[in-house]
Amino acid sequence: MYKIKRDKFYASRGSYSKIYQIKCSFCKTNITKYQKDGPGIIKRMYHDRMFDIECQDVSGKLNCPNCKAMIGVNYIYKPENRLAYRLFAGSISKSIIK
Ligand SMILES: [Zn+2]
Repeated sequence: MYKIKRDKFYASRGSYSKIYQIKCSFCKTNITKYQKDGPGIIKRMYHDRMFDIECQDVSGKLNCPNCKAMIGVNYIYKPENRLAYRLFAGSISKSIIK
């Protein structure tokens, strides 16, 4: 159902990806499915790696659709000129889908 995207970003992170269910860490509401490329913690979420995002607003903030906690804010990740959400520490919890 959720297909791993294999592109230059995937390749540059070692061709190793997992798809996670991302939840609000406060109320456990689903935020999105997310493809994380390479090892390490999730500090930002690239838009091109998000599946079924439901809670984006026009100001570019990412808020939990249930408890309204602020999860992250839009910015451009300059090294790759890539739109992403910068996540606030401790704002998400995750579990592996595949
Ligand atoms: Zn929440």
